[in-house]
Amino acid sequence: MSDNCIFCKIVAGQIPSTRIYEDDDVLVFHDIHPVANVHFLIVPKRHVESLLTATPGDQVLLGKLLALAPQLAREQGLGEGFRTMINTGVKGGQSVFHLHLHVFGGGGKAEAAISQIMQ
Ligand code: AMP
Ligand code: ZN
Repeated sequence: MSDNCIFCKIVAGQIPSTRIYEDDDVLVFHDIHPVANVHFLIVPKRHVESLLTATPGDQVLLGKLLALAPQLAREQGLGEGFRTMINTGVKGGQSVFHLHLHVFGGGGKAEAAISQIMQ
């Protein structure tokens, strides 16, 4: 656990979250400021700051985050498709420096904006 890390505190149960999945390595909860009708975060329980500081030893964990996305997306009603995003570093738009995979879809403001930009 890293001091003053909001996601470490969520993992530890010190800050509430709406959990949708948990195992020994991973916690998944809804984003508090959803950018789409469904928006959740897949978070390693162990504090890894970002993809920039991940090491080859984190490969299995990184694979697990991605592999969980379709299973949980289906369970959240996104069986026909969803988007994933990992913001990395200050210049990559990361605001919480505990690695997390955004999964979102089902319509909403980000969906509309991304669809418009990525034609
Ligand atoms: P990023 O900008 O990629 O670092 O994303 C951080 C995300 O964490 C944002 O989408 C926030 O809305 C979300 N977030 C921040 N605090 C909380 C919290 N207490 N519970 C759930 N999501 C949070
Ligand atoms: Zn942390």
